[in-house]
Amino acid sequence: MTRPLLALTLGDPNGIGPEVVLKAARDDRVREAARVVAVGSATVLADQAERLGLGPVHAVQDPAVAAPPGALAVLDTGGPGAGGAAYAWGETTAAGGAQAMAAVARACDLCLGGLGAGGPEAGGAVDGMVTAPLSKEAIHLAGYDFPGHTEFLQAWTGAETVVMVLASETERGPLRVALVTIHVPISAVPRLVTRGRIADVCRTLAAALRRDLGVETPRLAVLGLNPHAGDGGVIGGEEAATIRPALGALRADGLDVAGPFPADAFFGRAAWSRFDAVVAMYHDQGLAPFKAIAQGAGVNVTLGLPIVRTSPDHGTAFDLAGRGGPQGGGADPGSMVEAVLLAAQMARRRMGG
Ligand SMILES: [Zn+2]
Repeated sequence: MTRPLLALTLGDPNGIGPEVVLKAARDDRVREAARVVAVGSATVLADQAERLGLGPVHAVQDPAVAAPPGALAVLDTGGPGAGGAAYAWGETTAAGGAQAMAAVARACDLCLGGLGAGGPEAGGAVDGMVTAPLSKEAIHLAGYDFPGHTEFLQAWTGAETVVMVLASETERGPLRVALVTIHVPISAVPRLVTRGRIADVCRTLAAALRRDLGVETPRLAVLGLNPHAGDGGVIGGEEAATIRPALGALRADGLDVAGPFPADAFFGRAAWSRFDAVVAMYHDQGLAPFKAIAQGAGVNVTLGLPIVRTSPDHGTAFDLAGRGGPQGGGADPGSMVEAVLLAAQMARRRMGG
């Protein structure tokens, strides 16, 4: 089996990102499925590895260069700046935001140089990226005007449509939830739920399910926006005016899309298990039930990018940072491990292996 080379960005150095990267890189399932290289500040990672008893790390210039046995390779993207503190566990700082974003930009560039160029053998690039969590507040302090990774990577790669999907393997099969609107105020949701956006999301989702996840004929379920999916127009008109026409056009194009379904009953009765993915109209409509079902084993994947990108579905957990050690404790790397395994699976499909 071909083991793809994946870049693991460290995220905000003041959170649990570096710790879950260090732990995930040592996981047996990860080692079987992929080769990994950390991307971020080598100084910070080496220091945290030592303090947490999760070392050693080995700085490399070329991501394809393997570290000595037992060590994790890290591609240094600089930081901390001269005179600046390297990191401060639990704090929201501009330096932390800047470090996190430098790593994401570098990893994305490595991916863009890799896919289609023959992978790591041609040009020392990587086959996909897995991003540890960053702090939206910290990247704001560092001068970045993005709500998160997804939006930054869309701008950086020039992707027309990106779809944020949360995925988890459950006893009833894979649960995948895609979002029509992502990080926007709830008051903005109704005007952003347009026929065009719903169609773009469903098309991007279906194409990515085929290409990256091996689902040949994707069946999609689409949720309504209003309670009871509008109840025949009594509780809101978006279903009749926008969602139904969008689904009609998609069906005419041969896409298997069902709905709009009332969102409340949809998850409780496990109706989702009859579909390959569920399309939710807004963040909490999809993610609240998802997180209740996935129980921390969820993975975030961005579809529609030219590159493979996944991430754990937790945040920086500033309150937990720095608590772990060689005897255990600290941050649970479970979601990071799942994110690496999913990225490896997607990258292998793109590599044709
Ligand atoms: Zn979110």
